Amino acid sequence: RPRVLSGVQPTGALHLGNWLGAIRNWVGLQASHDTFFCVVDLHAITVPHQPGQLAEDTLTTAALYLACGIDPARSTVFVQSHVPAHSELCWLLNCVTPLNWLERMIQFKEKAVKQGDQVSAGLLDYPVLMAADILLYDADLVPVGEDQKQHLELARDIAQQRINARFGERDGAGEVLSILKVPEPLILSEGARVMSLTDGRSKMSKSDPNEGSRITLLDPPELITRKIKRAKTDPTMGLEFGNPERPEADNLLGLYAALSGLGRERAATDCAAMGWGRFKPLLAEATIEALRPVQQRYQELRAEPALLHDVLAEGRERAAAVAGATLERVRASLGFLPPG
Ligand code: ATP
Ligand code: MG
Repeated sequence: RPRVLSGVQPTGALHLGNWLGAIRNWVGLQASHDTFFCVVDLHAITVPHQPGQLAEDTLTTAALYLACGIDPARSTVFVQSHVPAHSELCWLLNCVTPLNWLERMIQFKEKAVKQGDQVSAGLLDYPVLMAADILLYDADLVPVGEDQKQHLELARDIAQQRINARFGERDGAGEVLSILKVPEPLILSEGARVMSLTDGRSKMSKSDPNEGSRITLLDPPELITRKIKRAKTDPTMGLEFGNPERPEADNLLGLYAALSGLGRERAATDCAAMGWGRFKPLLAEATIEALRPVQQRYQELRAEPALLHDVLAEGRERAAAVAGATLERVRASLGFLPPG
């Protein structure tokens, strides 16, 4: 079974983009892959955070994984900071990663401009920590949204060029024996990129200060209806895909196709002649219905904290065993003196 690793930052309630672009796909992978899903809390502190909120957001994120259908009997679910190997491997990789590889990362540039002179070294280092997350588990595949493609490319380059090529021993035939497995991206097209409700040209994000820009998985029905009612539209009649002049129409129709279960073709036909005033209540209804079972399972899970605690404790143990072995391999190939 090929191994898969992915994660979400506990930077706030998960939104439709995280669900349709990431978690919903993870659920399907469980049948055919060896799946590891972590809550990447060390990533969450690369931007200013509230200490009083971090633990709670971490639990919320983990509970939402399960509520969306991640099954702890089939997947390893854990919290990144509970496995110290992530920080340790990150340091080792830091020391072999050229600074200019990080300075050209799009997400860094986008997030950095919003913070002026308060940008942390951690924000620059974010992709190296992400590389450590992936490489520790010898992941074959990493499901990532469009926004994380560049980071995965970097993880591959670090593994291949900076670790394996430089520190891998050669076998009798002169072939380099790899220390780290080089992962492949797994990009799923439908719902791969959900855009903001207030600007069809920027992606839906937890960190957007405008809460009206996203629908979270825990929004109550009235709030969903209100956010959709206020979502940006254009003066044109009829919904359509792929018109570059109408990113909002494309995005909202895409959400409708995914959330109603109708699929893109059928949704496009049904809504081709529909005005916004008729379309928006339909989209709101589809969203509310799609989220209803997730919200119900979420409430049940939060009412029983011992269960979630056990899932994360067991996940930590399984994850630590795999990660520890990889870290040892890297330490040895870099030439460290073994302890004791
Ligand atoms: P932040 O704004 O704090 O970076 P985020 O909304 O970008 O939060 P992440 O935790 O960075 O969420 O990403 C978690 C996963 O969700 C990743 O796999 C990412 O590719 C995916 N993802 C994030 N935003 C979207 C989106 N708008 N559409 C589709 N997938 C998304
Ligand atoms: Mg992000």
